[in-house]
Amino acid sequence: MSGFAALGLSAALVRAARERGYETPTAIQAAAIPAVLRGRDVLASAQTGSGKTAAFALPMLHWLESLAPETPRRTRALVLVPTRELAAQVGEAIRSLSQASAAVRPVKVVVAFGGVSINPQMMELRGGAEVVVATPGRLLDLVDHNALGLGGVAMLVLDEADRLLDAGFADELARVLAKLPRRRRNLLFSATFPPAVQTLAQRLLHEPVRVAADATPGEAPDIEQHAVEVDAAQRTPLLRHMIVTGQWSQVLVFVATRYASEHVAEKLRRAGLQASALHGDLSQGARTQALADFKAGRSRVLVATDVAARGLDIVQLPVVVNYDLPRSAADYVHRIGRTARAGASGLAVSFVSAATEAHFRLIEKRQGRRVARERIAGFEPKETAAPASAGSGGVKGRRKSKKDKLREAAARE
Ligand code: AMP
Repeated sequence: MSGFAALGLSAALVRAARERGYETPTAIQAAAIPAVLRGRDVLASAQTGSGKTAAFALPMLHWLESLAPETPRRTRALVLVPTRELAAQVGEAIRSLSQASAAVRPVKVVVAFGGVSINPQMMELRGGAEVVVATPGRLLDLVDHNALGLGGVAMLVLDEADRLLDAGFADELARVLAKLPRRRRNLLFSATFPPAVQTLAQRLLHEPVRVAADATPGEAPDIEQHAVEVDAAQRTPLLRHMIVTGQWSQVLVFVATRYASEHVAEKLRRAGLQASALHGDLSQGARTQALADFKAGRSRVLVATDVAARGLDIVQLPVVVNYDLPRSAADYVHRIGRTARAGASGLAVSFVSAATEAHFRLIEKRQGRRVARERIAGFEPKETAAPASAGSGGVKGRRKSKKDKLREAAARE
């Protein structure tokens, strides 16, 4: 019996999984699928790359495909996600598994997120949909417009729950939860468990089965971490150098601001590399285009801010670069999780300068792991750590930005 069949899934879904190239369940799938099929609530510690989407999509479809068809279709399963990109990605994953399972009447999946016109989403919801994948704000708008009812929801999935709460969705989330029927199954997936997520889990879940994706040895993604010491001003030339000499086929570069996203992409383009920017100021069309170009391999470098890149699923992304360090250790885990997806190995490079060294040390501490510092010939840093030179008003050519000060303050916490 194949790995997925042994978990209790229908033959059609086992075939659908195989069609997508899933032969062996990942750790999270092996643990979560049987639990969901038994009707249990699940609390999963899982990040993007662990196979978490299929871990809830497969048992969800197993259940939905066994129900008698209804007209109009009632919304039975609700998946809440923090970003538009993740909404689109998760919706697509559920849809394609459902189509591949060749059910007589495929489950209808509607994806809804803000920042775009609500009308097409309302049109799509005509006739109902068994599965709705949405960001909380837009979901509430749709409910307010009577475009969908939540009274039939019997399965709730919170995907990237830490991000959901992070993104300032806490109030909206509470309003959505208040509209759901009390009797339902709840699945909560989160990469990290800060107190807010723990509280939510306690409120929401009934005797959950606990699943940890990275608890199984060998399933933890194989990510090679490097920290390269470089002065802030030399980062773009160094990045270009590393892309070219390392022959990186594709790289996702994280920056702290929308401006940096545009600026670094522009500089790399001028240096002859296909690079595009991805950030929240772009129109939805431009974001979709930048992503599609990157996914299709038409661009080699994607320079993105955290929010824009959240949950991005690009299979076998070989390299991730922290051009700017993330604010928190949790963000670091999320970022480097973009590489080494589902068993593949990956490389994560962080640029560290004298000004950000203390902050990186904090990230290492939270991760419980040290990363050796390296220097690249021709790009050795000239700036020294702040305490030695701070007295005389700082190092020439280097003034602390507001962000640097914030980082330093964070590192001192
Ligand atoms: P996720 O963590 O859900 O974002 O999935 C990460 C990536 O792993 C996606 O590209 C999935 O298509 C892929 N994937 C999920 N499950 C499996 C599996 N059992 N075998 C191989 N790849 C998988």
